[in-house]
Amino acid sequence: MKQAAVIGAGTMGNGIAHVYAQYGWSVTLIDVSAAALEKARTTIQANLDRQAKKGTIPADAPGQILGRIQTSTSLDAAAPAQVVVEAATENPTLKFSIFESLDRICAADAILASNTSSISITEIGARTKRPENVIGMHFMNPVPVMQLVEVIRGHATSDATTAAVLAMSKELAKVPVEVQDYPGFVANRILMPMINEAIYTVMEGVATPGAVDTVMKLGMAHPMGPLALADFIGLDVCLAILEVMHKGLGDPKYRPCPLLRRMVAAGHLGRKSGRGFYPY
Ligand code: NAD
Repeated sequence: MKQAAVIGAGTMGNGIAHVYAQYGWSVTLIDVSAAALEKARTTIQANLDRQAKKGTIPADAPGQILGRIQTSTSLDAAAPAQVVVEAATENPTLKFSIFESLDRICAADAILASNTSSISITEIGARTKRPENVIGMHFMNPVPVMQLVEVIRGHATSDATTAAVLAMSKELAKVPVEVQDYPGFVANRILMPMINEAIYTVMEGVATPGAVDTVMKLGMAHPMGPLALADFIGLDVCLAILEVMHKGLGDPKYRPCPLLRRMVAAGHLGRKSGRGFYPY
């Protein structure tokens, strides 16, 4: 059986493990927190049960799929994996150290992928002795539902690694899009300036959050307005990604809106804190 390891069992990691197991891979889900692993299992079980109820997977599939997922609190458990997808906390120092360890632990031909939203794949790859095997696999939340995977080629990522990851993503029923490693890749390079501009329109009193979102939903056929989406992503996460693009691309058009900074400073982070542009 094909073997994958997923590092980090949070919002993204549980979804990534779910999808690999659903498409027949044996998956080891690894987290430093045993509680996160337990919570991930419960979440995966609930999401599989929902899929079975809807009839998108057979009624007896949830048990089989869950049976293909093992959990561990040790990175050493990634040793047998042909592919590792890292989805740990978005912190460069943490990710560099995880990739240095994976480089020692995993087979020389294993592919090491990161689900990072904003950290350079080139820099992550440079921490290993196999930068040609290091690549970005940027899944979208919720992973079992969203079709896109941005496949990010670092400066040294090989054609063979890219081709393997594009093919594997299709086998996971995703639609992969190949992009180059520049700050924000494509998804956030386009989404975050739109969200930032929506926040400027609120700060300048052009319109209320509800009005901005209605314009974009009804006028541009967006399923969610930019401010509701920012609340969903987390305003602290939006700010961090804008900072990376502002610094990395050096263009003032990416400067984070002062209102975004003020809301983050106030702890109004969106859905997860119960308050952002909207109350929850
Ligand atoms: P999260 O906070 O929900 O989960 C992160 C998990 O990583 C936690 O369970 C934490 O215990 C674990 N972790 C921390 N250090 C670890 C270590 N050394 N080894 C193993 N596990 C460790 O975060 P998330 O939202 O799932 O994001 C994970 C990654 O995915 C980030 O790089 C983020 O930028 C990216 N991402 C997030 C989204 C999103 O919408 N949430 C979308 C695309 C990409």
